[in-house]
Amino acid sequence: MIELKGVSSGYSVVTVLQDINLAFSSGDRVGLIGPNGAGKTTLLETIAGFVARRSGTITFDGRDVSSLKPEQRAELGIVLVTEKRNLFTDMTTAENLKLGRCAAPANLRWDRAKVDEVTERVLTLFPKLKVLHNRPVGVLSGGEQQMVAIGRALMAEPKLLMLDEPSQGLAPQIVEAVYNAIDSISTDMTVLLVEQDLQIVAKTTRNVYIMINGRIRRISDSEIDDEALMTREIFGIE
Ligand code: ATP
Repeated sequence: MIELKGVSSGYSVVTVLQDINLAFSSGDRVGLIGPNGAGKTTLLETIAGFVARRSGTITFDGRDVSSLKPEQRAELGIVLVTEKRNLFTDMTTAENLKLGRCAAPANLRWDRAKVDEVTERVLTLFPKLKVLHNRPVGVLSGGEQQMVAIGRALMAEPKLLMLDEPSQGLAPQIVEAVYNAIDSISTDMTVLLVEQDLQIVAKTTRNVYIMINGRIRRISDSEIDDEALMTREIFGIE
């Protein structure tokens, strides 16, 4: 459902992603780990369209989306929750969630019954957001903002949900609840998760990839279990 062929991208004179070839199917749960600066965020932002690719093609549901703008990709179901969260801090939690619906397919965007149903699911996932409903997002804690950001992404009913280090600011129990909830929300949704913590990734995803210097490869279960190898690969230390 999403396929990258020979994709490279970067910033000004720097090429970060090098010849990325990847293919994920509907419902896949994919984890991505790697050292700081390896290009994990750049990969997510290239798929979402915030960073322009320099070569190669990105195909989504059989359609070449390589040249589409981020909002066009979002409408097709490609949604990214960034580390920076990009929330509207002067607006309330409820307003931020509602805005997430703007990225849903046009014919369903304001279908009242559907909006109510999805909102209910998000509030069941994060009951705390009910209490914070009328509060400006700018005054919320980091973890609460993370809940709003993930909730807002889910409001769009994405087909490909990309989460960039969602565990930052969230208690481990909440992180686990989020992953369990993703399964209950949609088994069709493809989830691409970037995390520093290999244990979180291994526990919550079925395919784990590692990115080093802008190149990506899949890692096997036996490699994941080899703590010394993983520490060396991810952190560059013995
Ligand atoms: P981390 O785990 O530290 O978040 P990452 O694997 O997500 O790292 P990226 O954020 O994708 O890595 O960064 C990859 C490289 O691109 C780094 O060398 C970084 O300094 C560089 N980079 C990222 N954003 C920009 C930018 N806007 N302009 C120039 N260089 C950038």
